[in-house]
Amino acid sequence: SPQPERGSADPQKLLTPVLSAHWDEPDSYTLAGYRRHGGYRALPKALAMDPDDLIAYVKDAGLRGRGGAGFPTGMKWQFIPQGDGKPHYLVVNADESEPGTCKDIPLLFANPHSLIEGIVIACHAIRSNHAFIYLRGEVVPVLRRLHEAVREAYEAGYLGPDALGPGKGLELTVHAGAGAYICGEETALLDSLEGRRGQPRLRPPFPAVAGLYACPTVVNNVESIASVPALVDRGKDWFRSLALGSEKSPGFTLYSLSGHVARPGQYEAPLGITLRQLLDMSGGMRPGHRLKFWTPGGSSTPLLTDEHLDVPLDYEGVGNAGSMLGTKALQCFDETTCVVRAVTRWTEFYAHESCGKCTPCREGTYWLVQLMRDIEAGKASSADLDKIADIADNINGKSFCALGDGAASPIFSSLKYFRDEYEAHLAGRGCPFDPEKSTAWA
Ligand code: NAD
Ligand code: SF4
Repeated sequence: SPQPERGSADPQKLLTPVLSAHWDEPDSYTLAGYRRHGGYRALPKALAMDPDDLIAYVKDAGLRGRGGAGFPTGMKWQFIPQGDGKPHYLVVNADESEPGTCKDIPLLFANPHSLIEGIVIACHAIRSNHAFIYLRGEVVPVLRRLHEAVREAYEAGYLGPDALGPGKGLELTVHAGAGAYICGEETALLDSLEGRRGQPRLRPPFPAVAGLYACPTVVNNVESIASVPALVDRGKDWFRSLALGSEKSPGFTLYSLSGHVARPGQYEAPLGITLRQLLDMSGGMRPGHRLKFWTPGGSSTPLLTDEHLDVPLDYEGVGNAGSMLGTKALQCFDETTCVVRAVTRWTEFYAHESCGKCTPCREGTYWLVQLMRDIEAGKASSADLDKIADIADNINGKSFCALGDGAASPIFSSLKYFRDEYEAHLAGRGCPFDPEKSTAWA
């Protein structure tokens, strides 16, 4: 069971590969490849436990949802009412689409059986006989591998009529979405899965009370569920011991480094590691350049800067720095990047993906795009900087779902840290980073 070597001079020693430990093996995605390294070993242990004890075990371990919000997984399972006579469902959210977020798709591609084993364990805990995986539809190679892994699991009896014990069946359905970011929002996902246009539902009721087909439903992220077998197999004390920051955020997790870093990729380490440590082990920023700004968890989480290199990457540490851990998608930008351009690009994404259900987000993101484009082109005035802040303020906390808040977030944080750069666009009548667009180069 991997442990980080705290205080070691070698930053690589902080890595704790669990889910990604065998990704480089050519058959890691097969049942045989998974079993070779102890795959499906946790399952009999979990099935021998009383479901309520299993839920308490996961709760005590401190596993928090890896989809972005960090909600305690065991607590979510505990919300499922028992003895209600209704079917219970587990829905795995594999609709990964937050800009910069790229951990669940490689995990599914290289190690789909860790998810399937986790699904069987979770279904035993919440007393469910039918689980669904809602996969981002564009990733066809992953869809094929997932179908093949599910077929193998049925054949081996991990799924099917006696999966949870004699006569206690478990069906697993893989559903490919059609490529809308909003369908990653859990209630829009449920609408889409039911065959309707994916738009968020009012919460409460939360899915745990009224989810798929109005029945109690746990919606969990891929990485959350895939982490469960290792947690059960190696024990909650080991899981809890993996924390480099706050003890409220334990466990191993995948950090996705992208952008101007020397060696981008997935780095699996305990929660609470810092970006400085991750950059040390990934070769740093590209040669000759320095970090300017970064996102802790995709573009919906407020930007941070080089002042925040030592912030522990856990829910508490990043929260105290004024941002959110989110999906742990660490997009790193160097000094050659125009922050106004980056924020404009993200804003265009949110405007395109806004489902249109609520006015603050539908109208606000549209107007933000118009103004951001004008600012970037140097055609705006300083009053427009106040206007984008005002529009973002009218979206944030006033929209129907988290997409609106996500759209407002890069506006606020970029104005907070880089207002001078916005002003330079106005003063230079265009982007100071682009000689073709700005008079600042004349
Ligand atoms: P949330 O905090 O509202 O909810 C988190 C989870 O806890 C949900 O499953 C919700 O049902 C459950 N929950 C919360 N309170 C509950 C209660 N009182 N009773 C029962 N269940 C309860 O967050 P959210 O709106 O679901 O998700 C926002 C997060 O999604 C952001 O942090 C963002 O980082 C992340 N995100 C991820 C992606 C991706 O591609 N992975 C994309 C966009 C956003
Ligand atoms: Fe739709 Fe945006 Fe409103 Fe969410 S915030 S419901 S995405 S319009």
